[in-house]
Amino acid sequence: MSATARPRRSPVPSEPATPAPSREERPAPAAATSEAAPSQRPAAPPRPPRPFLLDFFPLEGSDQTRLSRFFERLREGRLSTTRCPRDGELHWPPRVACPTCHTEELSWVDLPEHGRIYAFSAVLGGAPLGLEADVPFAVGLVDLDGVPLRLFGRIDGKPWTELRIGGAVRVEPYDVGDGRMFYRFRTVE
Ligand SMILES: [Zn+2]
Repeated sequence: MSATARPRRSPVPSEPATPAPSREERPAPAAATSEAAPSQRPAAPPRPPRPFLLDFFPLEGSDQTRLSRFFERLREGRLSTTRCPRDGELHWPPRVACPTCHTEELSWVDLPEHGRIYAFSAVLGGAPLGLEADVPFAVGLVDLDGVPLRLFGRIDGKPWTELRIGGAVRVEPYDVGDGRMFYRFRTVE
């Protein structure tokens, strides 16, 4: 039994005392076989459709999320979140229960429309489903004026190369094209 005929995953105890050549040093029987008889290789399966899991946007209906009010208010042009009436805590993202006191009796409050860029980066490839044609585009963290909240989102209005830390932006609710709403930021300078 030659080394080249030995199964590639042969158990270690059956190996001779002299170490066998490493996998890299052995001839490549699998490759040689495939070249000799390519018709024996199974056909590659057809490519599946693009996976739903790459969809960037959440499901928004009241039968799908208890935070549907957030999206309803976006449709009214209002970026909002929840506040706990017991301890006054302002949440982001909006919650179904206060993370501090666990009450589910939360209030919806509108957030400021303006803020400033805390940090940003550019999406140059691998964009989420539906955003492939928009590359390159900017995403970043925005500190909203007057509230202790830092939001992540897309930043439109200028090429990413012209954005700057501290630049002013405003919230822009928009329809993503299939009936769902989301928000992004747009530069105001
Ligand atoms: Zn609370």
